[in-house]
Amino acid sequence: MDGKLSDNDLSGVVEADRAHVWHHLIQHAPWTGPSPKADPKIIVEGRGMRVWDQNGREYLDAVSGGVWTVNVGYGRERIANAVRDQLLKLNYFAGSAGSIPGAEFSEKLIAKMPGMSRVYFTNSGTDANEKAFKMVRQIAHKRHGGRKYKILYRDRDYHGSSIAAMSAGGQEERNAQYGPFVPGFVQVPHCLEYRAQWDLSGEEYGVRAADAIEEVILAEGPDTVGALCLEPVTAGGGVITPPPGYWPRVQEICRKYDILLHIDEVVCGVGRTGTHWFGYQHYGVEPDIVTMAKGVASGYAAIACCVTSERVFEMFRDEEADPMSYFRDISTFGGCTAGPAAALENLAIIEEENLLENTAAMGDYMLDRLHELQDKHKVIGDVRGKGLFLGAELVADRESREPVDEKQAQAVVAACNRQGVMIGVTNRSIPGYNNTLCYAPALIARRDDIDQIIAATDTALTEVFG
Ligand code: PLP
Repeated sequence: MDGKLSDNDLSGVVEADRAHVWHHLIQHAPWTGPSPKADPKIIVEGRGMRVWDQNGREYLDAVSGGVWTVNVGYGRERIANAVRDQLLKLNYFAGSAGSIPGAEFSEKLIAKMPGMSRVYFTNSGTDANEKAFKMVRQIAHKRHGGRKYKILYRDRDYHGSSIAAMSAGGQEERNAQYGPFVPGFVQVPHCLEYRAQWDLSGEEYGVRAADAIEEVILAEGPDTVGALCLEPVTAGGGVITPPPGYWPRVQEICRKYDILLHIDEVVCGVGRTGTHWFGYQHYGVEPDIVTMAKGVASGYAAIACCVTSERVFEMFRDEEADPMSYFRDISTFGGCTAGPAAALENLAIIEEENLLENTAAMGDYMLDRLHELQDKHKVIGDVRGKGLFLGAELVADRESREPVDEKQAQAVVAACNRQGVMIGVTNRSIPGYNNTLCYAPALIARRDDIDQIIAATDTALTEVFG
């Protein structure tokens, strides 16, 4: 399409969608029922950082496909070609066997993850986390007489949409109406200093927030806790960067109580935070399990990975003669070869185009520009993030930090949209705190793209708050 509406009239598509498609994450009432007020949005085409809708309207996509996924941008011919070639050679075989792209991608990925060793292929972030939870549960049975079965998760973090993943979900509004949940998941406090639970700041706050994890472990009984699952930078819970002092103490606590550290890199993984391939690598963390999904192939194929250390892997091959010893799990679509074929090209693009460096530089630039907006608009209470994953928390009052009404935060997103810029906002996640604007442009972003995103936000904030 490229801005020119070369495709034919898409009204038939719109009507088919209106009648039959159940969209994710959204209330359908505005475009369904006897007198619809609007049309559903259909995204027709994408190039670079831009997409076009059914009316030929162009948008600068500052959220990489809505949910922080299309990290290398739209329209990458070399990924499409690699996927096509692989599909014709071999589209699928169950993951009980290996594949050429699976082996090649695993080798390249592990080279970027010192200390890690094995890649378990699956098809979504939720599923990758489920695999990790199952490994932890089986290790409890194999090694600890079934006792070390509890999995700790953090307030405000999110790990997926299945009932088990939501049992590890720290976002009350997301979970509301979907319980009861799975037993054996226990919450620890968040580490968002802007909403501090203790009268401390900086490193003292970071260490205190980690100590709070230890308090939960001691209350539960260390011999009952198998793993701690954390996002390196909390995404949908409000773009929360960890305070200084937090991660070293978290690592120390996990080692002290023999608790596996599972890092959920579904959003941050594969370059999103800049400089390093993974979010945890900024903080010197040595995880036992790392899960990843969105950016692994930038949405060109469905692929997710649950990556473990050799120590974790060893626990499943130590008793060859015992039929109950190995990991009795499968993901049918974890055997689709398009995933690793796309992921290999995705890694190559990030390397060849120096996108880790670009993400760090553009992330710093965008953070500065958001701080400028904060100086201008007192409704911005806090700006935070890492690389090209940034958030601006909106408050009605800077002193009290009272959050704005979330309808106002949504109005800012809508006003940006009217200017042809797609941004995000935390959404039905934390009661009363769905007030953080979210930005995750593709890693190819340039200054002029960021300037356009900032200008749209500036205008939108003026429009909504004066
Ligand atoms: N983990 C995190 C941190 C996420 O943000 C998400 C999705 O947004 C998931 C897991 C679940 O991934 P998926 O939607 O691919 O199942």
